[in-house]
Amino acid sequence: MMNQVSKETFCEILDGKESIAIGGHIRPDGDCVGSCMGLNLYLKEHYHFKELDVYLESIPDSFYMIQGTREIKHEIPADKQYDLFICLDCGDLGRLGFSAELFEHAKTTFCVDHHISNQAFARTNYIVPEASSTSELVYHLMQPELISKETAEALYMGIAHDTGVFQYSCTSPSTMEVAAELLRKGIDANDITNKTYYEKTYTQNQILGKALLESMMLLNKRCIASVVTLKDLEFFEADTKDLEGIVSQLHNTKDVDVAIFLYELEPKTYKISLRSNEKVDVSKVSQYFGGGGHKRAAGCSLSGNYYDILNNLVGQIALQMDDV
Ligand code: 5GP
Ligand code: MN
Repeated sequence: MMNQVSKETFCEILDGKESIAIGGHIRPDGDCVGSCMGLNLYLKEHYHFKELDVYLESIPDSFYMIQGTREIKHEIPADKQYDLFICLDCGDLGRLGFSAELFEHAKTTFCVDHHISNQAFARTNYIVPEASSTSELVYHLMQPELISKETAEALYMGIAHDTGVFQYSCTSPSTMEVAAELLRKGIDANDITNKTYYEKTYTQNQILGKALLESMMLLNKRCIASVVTLKDLEFFEADTKDLEGIVSQLHNTKDVDVAIFLYELEPKTYKISLRSNEKVDVSKVSQYFGGGGHKRAAGCSLSGNYYDILNNLVGQIALQMDDV
């Protein structure tokens, strides 16, 4: 694994590559979209002779304020081979989803990521688990003076989302320095965080309310859990993109160490989101169940009965608590 890729090395990686694809993880979040669009805009502006495409699953409506998002491709062309596939914010090939095929067919690959679970699966890897976000890492690959306002907006969104707007402990002095440089590009940071992070639709708030109301306290009230089923999504006429932020709201509960949020992806298959403070390393819990993530924010997918899944998760979490 290479935990330093200099601006010069990045230029060498790009050298001679006429066609480049950028892809990120399934159910793209703010950092995934921010890093992909930021890099896409930067390369479009300064390497306009290269063919460049971004492949991502559908994104939350609020992210369309970021330039270039309308051109994101949601399907892959048949028999396409890119000279270079750049994989961003994605810890393993499975998480790349539909664009994994392009990654596998590409002449060479490069991965930039901050997931502790990343096994360095690309040809060249720039993986820094301590980094706040992939967007922060992508910033370091760029020549600062060549970053446009539009690129800065995308990267700022990514950093703001993965740090909970500069709140989580992954926010380092260097994160703040990068954010400051992005602010100097003249971006409206308030507008970006308000529209893409804080603002919720009425439907989103209703589901959040339901998840909070029906949450359960477990492990001597040190753990909180809640679920949203397919039936709930149908009732509220919502989709899984409307569930962003619920797990962190659960985690905000006083004296709670770990929050577990499950939502049903397909009948009896649940996506699990875990959040914790410094006491429990939830990336260990999610990796035990085949997922990944970070110490304080991780996830996985599991099939079965909701209560069995919850029991298994709670069992693994309890192993890291010496007083329950
Ligand atoms: P979230 O709970 O917001 O979906 O994800 C929290 C963190 O865990 C993110 O960094 C995300 O990429 C990672 N993560 C979530 N689900 C999975 C999963 O099923 N597999 C892996 N490898 N990582 C996941
Ligand atoms: Mn990220």
